[in-house]
Amino acid sequence: MPRFSADGARVLADLHALRGIGAYKTGVHRPSLSPPHLESIRWLEAQLKANGLTPAIDGIGNVIGTAGRRKALLCGSHLESQNHSGWLDGPLGVVYALEAARVLNPVLKDAGIDVAAWCDEEGHFGPLLGSRSYVGQLSDEEMDAAVERTEGRRLRDALATAGFAGRPRFKAEAGRYIGYLEAHIEQGDLLEHDKLDIGVVTSIVGIWQFKIVVSGVQNHAGTTRMAIRKDAGVAAAQLLVELHRRLPRVAGPRTVWTVGNITLVPGAPSIIPGRAELLFQVRDADPQYVARIEAETRAAIADANRAGPCETAIEVLRTGQPAHMSATVQEAIEAAAAAHGASTVRMPSGAGHDAQFLSFAMPAGMLFVPSIGGISHHWTENTSDADIVRGAHVFVDTCARLLAA
Ligand SMILES: [Zn+2]
Repeated sequence: MPRFSADGARVLADLHALRGIGAYKTGVHRPSLSPPHLESIRWLEAQLKANGLTPAIDGIGNVIGTAGRRKALLCGSHLESQNHSGWLDGPLGVVYALEAARVLNPVLKDAGIDVAAWCDEEGHFGPLLGSRSYVGQLSDEEMDAAVERTEGRRLRDALATAGFAGRPRFKAEAGRYIGYLEAHIEQGDLLEHDKLDIGVVTSIVGIWQFKIVVSGVQNHAGTTRMAIRKDAGVAAAQLLVELHRRLPRVAGPRTVWTVGNITLVPGAPSIIPGRAELLFQVRDADPQYVARIEAETRAAIADANRAGPCETAIEVLRTGQPAHMSATVQEAIEAAAAAHGASTVRMPSGAGHDAQFLSFAMPAGMLFVPSIGGISHHWTENTSDADIVRGAHVFVDTCARLLAA
């Protein structure tokens, strides 16, 4: 089949236009539903209109530009950023989708690209709100309760200010799309390290979140003898060391785990902590490894409780939903990469992405371009122009192959 290519200069110009909206150092500060995020949505609306797509925004702030073709491929990513973060995490996938629509929609007769920008992939108000809403995994009650994690704005208030409150939410319709394709920066250093051009995503890890609570006895730090203390802080630290020693024995090759937050209660210099709370997160694309990690963690906690003097409990806050990417999409990405002389590797994604939830509604796939130094979620995040343009060529050609199949 003919090889399709992107207009590299146009892709770079669009990404730089978005970089200028909420600019922060060399990155951006564009939290969900903030004025710069809303400005980026208006920017996208204008681009969609200018290229023959009909944009609409729903009640959670999702933007979808439709071309009205009988056979359609949905493409996209997100426009908001983490706080004071990078310029490519999200916008790369939206601009590639826009470029695919610009290149392919005028030449394909009854097939075409629809472009999506999902709201709040970065979880300012809650994890992947927009894409979860689209696949029917976001309740009105969760929206009622959702509060922005930095400034405490209520999601309902932010949607009202944006003018999106009360609108219906888009819902994935069975059979509407042949699939979903998303491009993203890798956010790791595997591609750069192995000098490869394109990552073909096989699966997206699920994220399991646990809370571990250690109960001791709160008391005076000056008068309580060491021998009779039940210090929850010390017990928490001992448990972490024990988990670090034991978990590698049961982990899979890609399992990762993190204690990202420890709270000591009451957390004062002259008080022995009576309670410690630890947020413990496990990620893997294979739930069997997570089950082994959880079992080993529970065993370590049981051993600690037998030894005393504190009492520890673990609670599951959220179970993960690993997502598997479509084999057809993976093969199309590889064929497009080969046509453009780009090297590929199949790899799982350790980060969550909108494609994860889209995959529950339709065949979905993702391609990664290299991240310089593997840095992301930081304003220094970057990818070379050559890699951005190469990725755009492969993306557009992948879309053409999927629509031709
Ligand atoms: Zn992202």
